[in-house]
Amino acid sequence: MEAQQQSRSVIHRHPERAVPDEAAEILAAGMVAHVGFCGDGQPFVIPMSYHYDPRRPDRLYLHGAREGRLLQLLAAGAPVCIAVTLVDGLVYSRSAFNHSMNYRSVVCFGRAKVIENEADQRTIFEAMTERYFPGRRVGVDYQPATAQQLAATLLVEVAIEEWSAKARRGGPRGPYDADPTAPGTAGVVPLKG
Ligand SMILES: Cc1cc2nc3c(=O)[nH]c(=O)nc-3n(C[C@H](O)[C@H](O)[C@H](O)COP(=O)(O)OP(=O)(O)OC[C@H]3O[C@@H](n4cnc5c(N)ncnc54)[C@H](O)[C@@H]3O)c2cc1C
Repeated sequence: MEAQQQSRSVIHRHPERAVPDEAAEILAAGMVAHVGFCGDGQPFVIPMSYHYDPRRPDRLYLHGAREGRLLQLLAAGAPVCIAVTLVDGLVYSRSAFNHSMNYRSVVCFGRAKVIENEADQRTIFEAMTERYFPGRRVGVDYQPATAQQLAATLLVEVAIEEWSAKARRGGPRGPYDADPTAPGTAGVVPLKG
């Protein structure tokens, strides 16, 4: 996404950890989106499920109860910031200061529009179900949503205007971590991102 150059998505701290080419892969692998928005001057961050298809990398989908505050604000065109994180490992060091985490994360900036068309809603919801539950088939493993259920749900497509992706990899980088004779222990506890 060319808007990478705009200031709000430029990584200043550890710019060497920028991994813009991995952004779509991280969004496709993530489970929870932390959705940030402002309402009446108050910032909020709310955890949500989401849908993302790396074949259409500039859009991300959120849904919820039609009367929910978050979806109502997004549907009204409020700017939104969405973070998705994969935690790959816990990094322990011989120095307190150098304990860390291995991670891959993406921060997206965008605005939403409501998906009103019922056929489009079904397509996106079924793809989302497939993303979280690979192999589950509508009409075989579960019944399709009813028209009433779809009507009660607000589905929005967030057009991603800018994004940044950042990753930390590798072991601890404290001053004593490369020395196995130094006191203490050092290493990485791998986690399934
Ligand atoms: C992993 C995960 C996935 C989720 N997926 C979805 C989804 O796809 N769609 C959806 O609509 N909702 C989802 N939720 C619930 C979501 O987090 C919100 O509770 C819900 O969307 C209502 O948001 P709201 O701002 O409209 O609620 P409101 O009730 O208006 O929020 C009022 C206040 O309640 C508190 N609050 C709201 N939600 C939470 C929360 N989750 N944890 C702690 N405090 C909270 C906050 O202080 C917030 O300011 C998910 C939650 C989790 C943890």
